[in-house]
Amino acid sequence: MEEEQLKVIWNKRPIIISGPCSAETEHQLVQTALQLKAEGQVDVLRAGIWKPRTRPGNFEGVGSRGLPWLQTAKSLTGLPLAIEVATAKQVEEALKADIDMFWIGARTTANPFSVQELANALKGVAIPVYIKNPVNADMELWIGALERVSSAGVEKIGLIHRGFSAYGNTHYRNVPMWELAIEMKRRYQDLPFLVDPSHICGNRHLLQEVTQNAIDLNYDGIIIESHIDPDNAWSDAKQQITPAQLTDLLQKIIWRQDEITSHELHELLEDFRQQINKIDDEVIQLLSKRMKLADEIGHYKKDHDITILQTKRWDEVLERVSHMGMQLGLSKEFVIHYFNAIHMESIKHQDAVMNRS
Ligand code: PEP
Ligand code: MN
Repeated sequence: MEEEQLKVIWNKRPIIISGPCSAETEHQLVQTALQLKAEGQVDVLRAGIWKPRTRPGNFEGVGSRGLPWLQTAKSLTGLPLAIEVATAKQVEEALKADIDMFWIGARTTANPFSVQELANALKGVAIPVYIKNPVNADMELWIGALERVSSAGVEKIGLIHRGFSAYGNTHYRNVPMWELAIEMKRRYQDLPFLVDPSHICGNRHLLQEVTQNAIDLNYDGIIIESHIDPDNAWSDAKQQITPAQLTDLLQKIIWRQDEITSHELHELLEDFRQQINKIDDEVIQLLSKRMKLADEIGHYKKDHDITILQTKRWDEVLERVSHMGMQLGLSKEFVIHYFNAIHMESIKHQDAVMNRS
């Protein structure tokens, strides 16, 4: 890709990357690319040729055979190409085949050996490298991967949020845990941050909602799977959509501006923010007061040899606050989560009083 085009792609907001989960046949890949081009919504064509499947026996990608198909798709559509790379050899082959953008998959990000091998192979490449979050909700692994790739001198690094695997049945294939993504965005404000609604949802019916959620959180772009015949896709069939459905989805998205341009709006928002700051101050002061009481209780428990944890009492507290919270318009889930954190801090305080003083 020419430097100028690379710059355009890198800076485009929102950047839209789409294409099949896997390249299956030349026909399927090229037709998907042509349809995407005709729809006119997509900046970059994605396709997996090396597929890290969780279990053996699933379709593991067409491998290097797919590289010339990608070239054909690019020459017919002009769309730059993005693929997943997981080994040094793949990087080498893909660079020779003029791939324009790489992403590191969630299973790879979870393995520092693989990431280091990749980082060494990527030394100084000019093309963008996007790092997906690891499959498990471990920010340090994600950050570690970022540091390894960055230390290899790769300058164009972006992040992709594709959700985190969870045990048992969940609404999503990979739970978004937006709070982790928000924290990552806060820490690395200069890096492009994309969302992958396909792998979060696992099901095309959820895509619209999750993509809107992400746009409302000010993501820089979307990587989303599309296929000419989604139901018969060789991998991730349930979550893929046709290029026409992609257009429909993107047209239904409400795009919001990330800056407040009007002076009046700005003042109004500033006023709300001041009110929120004031309440936050009060919350912190009340929490500190509550912890001081916990310290007092710690002294009492120490003097009378009573355990820190009193399950019945804790039950009572949760019952009381979740009931009250619900009456005041707070979700039970939030109240319990919040009070669990308070309780743990309270236990720490009492432990300090009883065992460390
Ligand atoms: C993919 O993008 O097709 C893929 C395998 O994603 P992930 O690494 O997020 O599972
Ligand atoms: Mn996929």
